[in-house]
Amino acid sequence: MKICRFDQNRLGKIEGDRVLDVSAALEVLPDFRWPVPPGDALIRHLDLVIARIEEIAAAAPSRPVSEIDLASPVANPGKIIGAPVNYQEHLDEAIADSGISFGADVPPIAKIGLFLKACSALVGPAEGVTIRFPNRRTDHELELAVIIGKAGTGIAYDEALDHVAGYSIGLDMTVRGTEDRGLRKSVDSYAVLGPWLVTRDEIDDPGNLDLSLHVNDELRQHSNTSNMIFDVRRLIEYASAFYTLHPGDIIMTGTPEGVAPVRRGDIMTCRIKGIGEMKVAVHGGS
Ligand code: MN
Repeated sequence: MKICRFDQNRLGKIEGDRVLDVSAALEVLPDFRWPVPPGDALIRHLDLVIARIEEIAAAAPSRPVSEIDLASPVANPGKIIGAPVNYQEHLDEAIADSGISFGADVPPIAKIGLFLKACSALVGPAEGVTIRFPNRRTDHELELAVIIGKAGTGIAYDEALDHVAGYSIGLDMTVRGTEDRGLRKSVDSYAVLGPWLVTRDEIDDPGNLDLSLHVNDELRQHSNTSNMIFDVRRLIEYASAFYTLHPGDIIMTGTPEGVAPVRRGDIMTCRIKGIGEMKVAVHGGS
């Protein structure tokens, strides 16, 4: 199932080029009292919500997807995890760009580990990216985003996909510079998630998905998730060796080669096979 959040926190089920308004399914969520449990309540109760969606979808009103404003399908992630240099050819361009050397045999992600992006950076495709520092370079990084569904810590490689709720397209936008990644990738609107969440059952193999990013009409990034150095299972195993993963946590799995700057007025068109397409506008800056 493809599930979206749209307009003023409406819940949608995508069917082809239409969206069914299934917001009534949100009534299965429990009432909240402070403090709420960690993670995103919708993702935590996704099985209940999907069961209710299936009951009401046939009678739900529908609209063309082209008429709605798509928000991030996860509203309240506990953390956004990033995987640095997780594609060999992106590693090669990063080395060529900066002269950084990682040594011969060890994949650099195993040396650098993971990083965190501030949850306040998260937006959906309709909001777009707003450049904060027009005199500095802001780059696009197209990434497969994994949404955690079941909490876990110390998760084994072979069981990792049991902890996945689904997948989305992610943009790990980045200000270039010398500061720590966690700062440069946490600017407001520099984490884009969309266009919807595709439940895990619809993606046979997250390790074999074509992905591409155009800026306006120019193809900038084109690869396949089979080129990841740490695959999705390994990323979950590795992350959960350090911290508990909660429902709604987002893992941005790293970007392939072709990272390049964006400017105000650009439209990024992002596609991942089995998920779909999202268009994201660039605002602000110069
Ligand atoms: Mn990235």
